[in-house]
Amino acid sequence: MLRATLILMTTIFSTPVWAGLEIQKVTDKVYALVGPIGGRDETNFGNNATFGVVITSDGVVLMDPGGSWKGAQEIDATIKEITDQPVKIVIDTGGQDHRWFGNDYWQQRGARIIASEAANADHLDRVSLQIEGSTFFLKDQYAGTEPVNATETFADELKVTLGDTTLNLTYVGPAHTPGDIFVFVPSESTLFTGDIVFTERLLGIGPMAGSVDWVAAFEAMAKIDAIHVVPGHGHATDMLTATAQTYDYLVHVRAQMAQHIENGGDIIGSVNVDQSAFSYLQNFDQLAKRNAQTVFEQMEWE
Ligand SMILES: [Zn+2]
Repeated sequence: MLRATLILMTTIFSTPVWAGLEIQKVTDKVYALVGPIGGRDETNFGNNATFGVVITSDGVVLMDPGGSWKGAQEIDATIKEITDQPVKIVIDTGGQDHRWFGNDYWQQRGARIIASEAANADHLDRVSLQIEGSTFFLKDQYAGTEPVNATETFADELKVTLGDTTLNLTYVGPAHTPGDIFVFVPSESTLFTGDIVFTERLLGIGPMAGSVDWVAAFEAMAKIDAIHVVPGHGHATDMLTATAQTYDYLVHVRAQMAQHIENGGDIIGSVNVDQSAFSYLQNFDQLAKRNAQTVFEQMEWE
């Protein structure tokens, strides 16, 4: 009896609770699939990000394939709750694992895979590092993942038409990663920003992200007059919120750091610059000090 109870308890406690993707309707033809805001792990298959769905008269265009084979499978099952149409085109909007590790799954189902040249180069550069990270965090749920590059690339701009819908893909320069793009669907007044925009959670400025470039990329993107903004992380929102939670943060940290450097501050003290205005964003405690240090290192050389 005791033994049976123990086995039962072990089973209960070792079964991960799957995080799932929330379906958020944006327009009649556009949906955001909103993954968890925290880190990648075995319950979310690396889908700790937001994905975009555009339903055209000739199939679905998917913004970002998922963070693993199982992540892609989860996206596929979620899309089937919205439409019977097959995914014909997948767009990798950036360099992170959730922006390309699911490519193979969709390619095997006949989808075209599109990315910027810069994102494709970034994928090649960092593939072994990213595999290491994903296998560590996803454990057994990484099984089946085979990172493959996009089959179609473009330098700056690409117009993609599927059925009755046209999407404008634009690369203006590095942001969160070297190859981030944004995708505008004029007929739906919807802008998919990839990792150029983080909402609800604090963005991360890693070694791949130049804060000065990111500011410039955001400014170029924000010239588009879109009613709906689907961010790389967080729920679909508008440009005002995107600006307040991404752009204003980047500008704030850079201004604080410029002051710190001008006052003769060093890297040790850099982590203490005041970022408290953004402490309402999730992941603030894990990322704020690291972001400050990265920005210090970058601005020392600007
Ligand atoms: Zn991301």
